[in-house]
Order: sequence, then structure tokens, then C-alpha cells
Amino acid sequence: MHEMAMADSILKSVIENAKNNDAIKVLDVVVEFGQLALLNPEQVKFMLDVLSEDTIAEGANFVIESIPIEIKCGECDYLGTVDGENLDHYAPIIQCPKCDTRHIEVLNGKDVIVKKITIDKDPVNDKNIENDKIDCYKDKIKKDDD
Ligand SMILES: [Zn+2]
Repeated sequence: MHEMAMADSILKSVIENAKNNDAIKVLDVVVEFGQLALLNPEQVKFMLDVLSEDTIAEGANFVIESIPIEIKCGECDYLGTVDGENLDHYAPIIQCPKCDTRHIEVLNGKDVIVKKITIDKDPVNDKNIENDKIDCYKDKIKKDDD
């Protein structure tokens, strides 16, 4: 259940950061998913909805954005993205789109990043701005590999 562990980590990170910013409610959360993170984004989103019940993130709008896989080819020096939409989640095979070698280095696309959260602030603690919505932080979530 990687998805459950990931959803739990994302939520903890979101709530911790929201509280550090005097949030009374989390409104929006944007999470970037590398196509090589090997997680099912829809499942993670579903679990976020469930796990956030009875927290300040309850009812938040969780948005999952997909990040393309970027590679550097060890044979032909191709540097760029590969299509990861149809990758096998359990045994992904990445090839250079130019020369088809598997001798490649993955530069980007493995990470899950909480890109942005939008919160409602407590107006009592912040007299200058009432009901402020702020965007805060970017946090990389470590995948716990088995
Ligand atoms: Zn190549």
C-alpha cells in the first residue's frame, strides 16, 4: 500500500505547514507526481480525501499534477522527456525515444512534491489581514521504498 503511506506523508506535511502558518483551514493543495513515482495518483487523491476527515484539511481541494519523466541518454546524448503515460507501474521500462537504448539516466520524474497549499488564516491571530489566503511552500515527499 504505497499509496496509503504516500497520502499519509503528504497530509502530515500539509497540516504541519498549514499550522505553522496559523491556518484554520486548508483550502487547496497542489501535489506534483512524477510519472516515475510509481503510484496511482487517483488512489492517493482518494485516500487524501478520506484521511483528511476531521483535520483542518477536511474538504480541501487536492489537485494532482503529473510531472513528465526527463532523461539523459547514455548512448546518443538525447536530453529531454519521455512519455510515461503508459508505463507499467510495477516494472517500468524506460527507453531513449531516439535510439531505443535502456542505457539512460533519469533526471526528473521520480518525486512527489507538495507544490502549493492555500490556507485560510485565523483572523484573530492576524489582525491586519482578515481571512487571508496564502500560498506557502514546496515540499518534497520522500518515498519510503521497500
Ligand atoms: Zn539515445
